Amino acid sequence: MADTSSFDIIIIGSGPGGYVTAIRAAQLGFKTAIVERAYLGGICLNWGCIPTKALLRSAEIFHYFQHAKDYGLSASNVGFDPKAVVARSRAVSKRLNDGVGFLMKKNKVAVIWGEAALDAPGRVTVTPPNPQIKADPPKGALGPGGYSAKHIIVATGARPRVLPGLEPDGKLVWTYFEAMVAPAIPKSLLVIGSGAIGVEFASYYRAFGAEVTIVEVLPQILPVEDAEIAAFARKAFEKQGIKIFTGAKIAKLDRTADSVAATIDDGKGGTQTLTFERVISAVGVVGNTENLGLEKTRGESRAQRHRG
Ligand SMILES: Cc1cc2nc3c(=O)[nH]c(=O)nc-3n(C[C@H](O)[C@H](O)[C@H](O)COP(=O)(O)OP(=O)(O)OC[C@H]3O[C@@H](n4cnc5c(N)ncnc54)[C@H](O)[C@@H]3O)c2cc1C
Repeated sequence: MADTSSFDIIIIGSGPGGYVTAIRAAQLGFKTAIVERAYLGGICLNWGCIPTKALLRSAEIFHYFQHAKDYGLSASNVGFDPKAVVARSRAVSKRLNDGVGFLMKKNKVAVIWGEAALDAPGRVTVTPPNPQIKADPPKGALGPGGYSAKHIIVATGARPRVLPGLEPDGKLVWTYFEAMVAPAIPKSLLVIGSGAIGVEFASYYRAFGAEVTIVEVLPQILPVEDAEIAAFARKAFEKQGIKIFTGAKIAKLDRTADSVAATIDDGKGGTQTLTFERVISAVGVVGNTENLGLEKTRGESRAQRHRG
């Protein structure tokens, strides 16, 4: 019987970093396994790049319908159904998620379903995934247990950064997870942070009619982009009716049952308090490096190096 517990290479995490590596490793002749605890394809295919582009495509088409006249066309009674928009986005993600399963099978990469931690050099223990994550393992996946490999690659990705006072609560203050599947468009929305994730959601919700405000602590929106591009994007967003504060921060959020009062410090000595139906916290991501057992290997994270 084939040995299904020892491999040449085990990859932890099946996002674009992990699954592409797994395919290449298998193509090069290594006996390869990939461990995943939630969704094949990782954040990108399931909660990031792909579903956001699907949402934005619906927003774009809606925008075209509203401006049909500009193209010599006519469209009347144009409407939208947020639930159907989200359902389409989830279906696109599901298709790609299934596609990764197919690619693993085609390339003979074993999928191990569960949460991986390093035990010792060359040893990985996989425990059952968090039951709150409702995702089915792909057919034929291996389960929890002890596995060994000559090489282990950590590709565990990242999750939303949480800042004190701005903690997401899943209802009023969202991360990209809740923002991706909202069944309704809030009347007013505060987006904290104007990186790619923040401005994408700002643009999506504005297209469907939300009054959107972005607050960015740095002097320009899209802080890691070129200043010229950021200025151009800002103009375009403001033309769409998005209100933007830069060099400003949220001093506090006061949550009630169905709204959030945000005190905005404009960075010039002034503050104002505005009320929003929903808030998206898009203040960056942090790496999934905890509880991985990195300390039991010769590897170290940058955080450990800085501490040590
Ligand atoms: C809303 C949003 C929009 C984005 N849009 C774009 C875009 O348009 N273009 C772009 O280039 N990038 C975009 N990104 C960023 C992109 O999603 C990431 O750069 C990419 O997903 C990183 O890939 P990864 O393989 O490193 O990690 P991830 O995709 O995060 O995958 C890591 C995987 O590891 C698994 N995992 C973690 N720990 C364990 C463990 N202990 N055991 C088992 N499994 C584990 C996780 O469940 C996850 O599936 C976006 C991100 C977000 C949130």
